[in-house]
Amino acid sequence: MADLAVQLTAPNGRSYSQPIGLFINNEWVKSSDGGKLTSINPTNETEITSVYAATAEDVDRAVTAARAALNGAAWGELPATDRGKLMHKLAELVEAHRETLATIETWDNGKPYTVARDEDLTEVAETLRYYAGYADKRFGQVIETTPDKLAYTVREPVGVCGQIIPWNYPLSMAAWKLGPALACGNAIVLKPAEQTPLSILYFANLVKEAGFPPGVVNIVNGQGAVTGAALATHPRVDKIAFTGSTATARNIMKMASGTLKNITLETGGKSPLLVFGDAELDLAVKWAHGGIMSNQGQICTATSRVLVHESVYDKFLAAFKAQVKTISKVGDPFAEDTFQGPQVTKAQYDRVLSYVDVGKNEGATLVAGGQPAAQPQASGKGYFVEPTVFTDVTPTMRIFQEEVFGPFVVILKFASEEEAIALANNTEYGLGAALFTTDLTRAHRVAKKLEAGMVWINSSNDSDWRIPFGGVKQSGIGRELGEAGLEAYSTIKAIHINMKSRL
Ligand code: NAD
Repeated sequence: MADLAVQLTAPNGRSYSQPIGLFINNEWVKSSDGGKLTSINPTNETEITSVYAATAEDVDRAVTAARAALNGAAWGELPATDRGKLMHKLAELVEAHRETLATIETWDNGKPYTVARDEDLTEVAETLRYYAGYADKRFGQVIETTPDKLAYTVREPVGVCGQIIPWNYPLSMAAWKLGPALACGNAIVLKPAEQTPLSILYFANLVKEAGFPPGVVNIVNGQGAVTGAALATHPRVDKIAFTGSTATARNIMKMASGTLKNITLETGGKSPLLVFGDAELDLAVKWAHGGIMSNQGQICTATSRVLVHESVYDKFLAAFKAQVKTISKVGDPFAEDTFQGPQVTKAQYDRVLSYVDVGKNEGATLVAGGQPAAQPQASGKGYFVEPTVFTDVTPTMRIFQEEVFGPFVVILKFASEEEAIALANNTEYGLGAALFTTDLTRAHRVAKKLEAGMVWINSSNDSDWRIPFGGVKQSGIGRELGEAGLEAYSTIKAIHINMKSRL
């Protein structure tokens, strides 16, 4: 086992044992070709450690283990109530290990430690708990037809579920997918993002400690084009649940079509936030700032297009810029007062800065940021960018249409409600939308017209594990979270009984 875990000490002084293997059948194993991927600390660009990366052969082993778990008595015949108990136990273990998990998340991803510990890890434990309660509360129906026929339905697990997750909320995204899948009795092969492979491996040990039978949860790190593709094309995988970019989602749909897999997709966004003339401006400024600048702007639902009525535009812009200056402290993610850590990778850092050039070349006005941010460490390394604000933006510009996935916002003026709605819907995406008004009727009228899977009234990105999450248009297919999240993880079998020996 010595070469399947390493003892590490994080920048905040916390020491722990970091698994580096593939987690298959409740055991740690090496990849079949010995290949690894290396995780980089985005704060100072140093290597944290390397973990084994799964080949197609390894993915096949994981799928075989999952299939065996599904067909075995220990999981396949486990009473639903006991499935829920295992999930409750896992939630308790997550809480007991909250600080270590948050430390790994911050080290690997760059998000502020206080956010990882207090927000992400709370969400992980509570999502597991929420779905644990559903394990024995998902029933079929008895359906009346004629007196000589009894019909009923039962809900069955979909089967072996491949779950492909992104790097922006590594543990939360895993919990969103594991929660409903486990509650419904599926077996899982989960592929974390190659940029953030570490926290989920530590979590895997907790899965085993909670008492889940071997093969129920398997974790295979690896590159998308190798490990992810092996999962998406595997003939004995019944479902793919994916969160990531729209471009990759298109690819996954194609790959999954080979065996007509069930799919759910959570993809990109360019979510609008509308501020009407009658809005409470302080409230709007606070949420508009958090809606784009939190999590380094790496939020799929980030409200990255702010649309403000002309009557309050100047006031809003001045207050928004002041908010960016006072709240968006960029720095060491382990420091208590840091609001914004580094972007997750060099690629994302370059991407954000490249959009600054795009915006300037398109003729928009840069009114804040647009530069690499001062590095908190003497080395001068790290993927820090300044929170960036553009104005004088038009709908045809790329910075209006394309997802930047960073602390990068465009602010536009509108003159009427109709224009605001048209601007908001002028995108291929339809994930979230936010609106600020004190007019109750307008709030509901506009919410109805916005093309989005979620609308926040007088807040932004106020998501919750009890409430369905997902998009329309090119922002995805299906829903996660809430009761709706369960739909993706069970199938309905109809049983017809001839009560009168009907010929
Ligand atoms: P990505 O789509 O490349 O990666 C996401 C996951 O898919 C990773 O685990 C990756 O390894 C895997 N993957 C990549 N190529 C694959 C392939 N060919 N086959 C199978 N799996 C593959 O995303 P990215 O570029 O790393 O992340 C940024 C994007 O993710 C953003 O544009 C953002 O819109 C999106 N995102 C969306 C959400 C959401 O909830 N809708 C959440 C986070 C990120």
